[in-house]
Amino acid sequence: MEASFLFLGTGASTGIPVIGCDCAVCRSASTFNRRLRPSGLIRCGGKVFLIDCGPDFRQQALRYHINHLDALLLTHTHYDHIAGIDELRVYFFHNKQPLPCLLSKESFQELKKHYDYLFDRENHASSVKPNLQFQLLNDSGTAIVEGIQIKHFSFSQCNMLVTGFRIGEFAYVTDIRNYSDEIFLSLQGVQKLVVSAISNIASRAHFSVDEAIEFANKVGAQETWLTHIGHSIDHEKMNPLLPPNIHMGYDGLEFKISV
Ligand SMILES: [Zn+2]
Ligand SMILES: [Zn+2]
Repeated sequence: MEASFLFLGTGASTGIPVIGCDCAVCRSASTFNRRLRPSGLIRCGGKVFLIDCGPDFRQQALRYHINHLDALLLTHTHYDHIAGIDELRVYFFHNKQPLPCLLSKESFQELKKHYDYLFDRENHASSVKPNLQFQLLNDSGTAIVEGIQIKHFSFSQCNMLVTGFRIGEFAYVTDIRNYSDEIFLSLQGVQKLVVSAISNIASRAHFSVDEAIEFANKVGAQETWLTHIGHSIDHEKMNPLLPPNIHMGYDGLEFKISV
């Protein structure tokens, strides 16, 4: 089946440039160093799946002509991954169809706290909110949306459970800090991998570049791209330092995936 993945955003939670920062990367003229909040789009057999919906979603949807969606796959409920959720209203204006939203039970509870009006059943068909059809995920398993198998698995960041998604030989793993070795069973056979790495130094919440490389090597994908990249990393300087099969992701990069 024809399928592809498009990076809508590859930046850390602040986006790059960071407001008020005059570091070399934030001042850089290279478009590779301009990173919107992390998000991706899978196109698969005519279906369109959005991974996360951060504060830059409107800009991303306009830039990449995302005029239709078939599902939202939510990794977790930190601001940089959900703050654009209200923008999804416009899809309901157009097609009057609820949008399937796959998320963990933990994310569902958190989303309820942040966006209580999304759960107001009395206003079910109201135009004041996106009409999401929540599908709660267990820690790992397979969901089928529009006839397409979407595998999911879990890991954690600080104390938050985060969901990874896999379609065919492609997997998206962002905001990963702690994981059990079972994750490699879920990722067995993945040939194209996206994994987050914030800087050269590991943080409480994120892999360093070296940790992401180590993780990618364990997965053994043919190719890996880094995402969720902070402003301490210059795209052009970092790329040549990476192993040949590991690359810097950048906004607008699209590649084929096999499903
Ligand atoms: Zn994040
Ligand atoms: Zn900066």
